[in-house]
Amino acid sequence: MVSDSFSVNAQNHLTIGGVDTVEIARQYGTPVYVMDEDKIRANAHAFAESMRHCYGGNGLVLFASKAFCCKHMHKICLEEGLGLDVVSGGELYTAQSAGFPMEKICFHGNNKSIAELEMAVSLGVGRIVVDNLTELEHLDYIASSHNTTAAILLRVKPGVEAHTHEFIRTGQIDSKFGFALETGEADAAVRRAASLGHICLKGFHCHIGSQIFDMEPFKEAAKVMLDFMARMQTETGCAFTELNLGGGFGIRYKECDNPPALSDYMEYVSAFLRTYCAQIGLQMPFIYIEPGRSIVADAGLTLYTVGSVKTIPDVRTYVCVDGGMFDNPRYILYQAEYEVVAANHAGDARDQIVTVAGKCCESGDLIQEHTPLQPVQPGDTLAVLCTGAYNYSMASNYNRNPRPPVVMVSGGQSRIVVRGDTYEDLLRFDE
Ligand SMILES: *Cc1c(COP(=O)(O)O)cnc(C)c1O
Repeated sequence: MVSDSFSVNAQNHLTIGGVDTVEIARQYGTPVYVMDEDKIRANAHAFAESMRHCYGGNGLVLFASKAFCCKHMHKICLEEGLGLDVVSGGELYTAQSAGFPMEKICFHGNNKSIAELEMAVSLGVGRIVVDNLTELEHLDYIASSHNTTAAILLRVKPGVEAHTHEFIRTGQIDSKFGFALETGEADAAVRRAASLGHICLKGFHCHIGSQIFDMEPFKEAAKVMLDFMARMQTETGCAFTELNLGGGFGIRYKECDNPPALSDYMEYVSAFLRTYCAQIGLQMPFIYIEPGRSIVADAGLTLYTVGSVKTIPDVRTYVCVDGGMFDNPRYILYQAEYEVVAANHAGDARDQIVTVAGKCCESGDLIQEHTPLQPVQPGDTLAVLCTGAYNYSMASNYNRNPRPPVVMVSGGQSRIVVRGDTYEDLLRFDE
């Protein structure tokens, strides 16, 4: 299977973390997100260990909360020794509610509100990643009114092309995120930050995109960032000691995907950083990386129940399920690919080609097109694999559909960590 979290048991049922998914569907209803907590922990642990191995004590892995944000996940991160990347007051509030230490949090966003900056400063968030000059000025003012100094990184666009979908590509000059290098914008931001009394510029951040399989762009971005750090240090006389290289490590969604092993990536990039720092006479900075997808995606799946099956001769077969773009908008957003399996006869050959459609009133509400699947009938349980990232966190109540619960399995047991919406929940804010 695409992830070692998934297998098939003696009943020919799909399992996750050793637990029968057909049983889970029966117990909790569908649609339901199911996550393998042991796999999440193993992924998190592998990142933390790899960081220790490659950078000594001189680095920290931050989990990108936006991939899967809830209190339970933040607690797992804390227990596994990770920090957090948050991008909104809501994600920060979730971390606070989970008892997460603020100094291990990095606050991102291209348009943080004054209220969010106030919140970050008053809570003592470890690093604020400043995206633009307006934010820099606001932050200096807010920090001064709290009689404190805000420790920041500046987000820089390294101008590196990563081979990924244009909506999840962020490092090039035409991006809404960060300061451009080519135009002198980043230089000006460094000088301005250095001149402000309540700002402490620790270093720089870049994030070149998501679901990247090629290691070369990570190295290229690191090189651009080190060159920039060295030049800015010489020109301003300031010492910059931190470099955040972002996330974006690709995972295996389809059987045919072949992303590099984590250890290969970590060793390749860390070896480059050490060599290149020595070459240009720069002290090796403290390194942050920010994996999101690669910690949670392959630890999750979504279970649905098949409703109608519509075969249109010479056109295609639609398999309609009780979820859709409200629980997984990734296909409609960027044609994200997934493996689909009939959970109640998972070991059979997937010898049909079908389109899996949701139940929303949109023709585009599809989960996957032209995908191999076992023959299915109404009532069968359908599993979409590797939905642990950017599914629950992107869910909506479109068509007033209740968002599904998140069930975690661990040590062969299952339990709800985020309950699903009730119809009452849907009315909660209606006056
Ligand atoms: C989205 C994002 C990440 C995580 O990306 P993944 O592809 O999930 O690893 C990390 N850092 C920043 C700034 C991001 O925007």
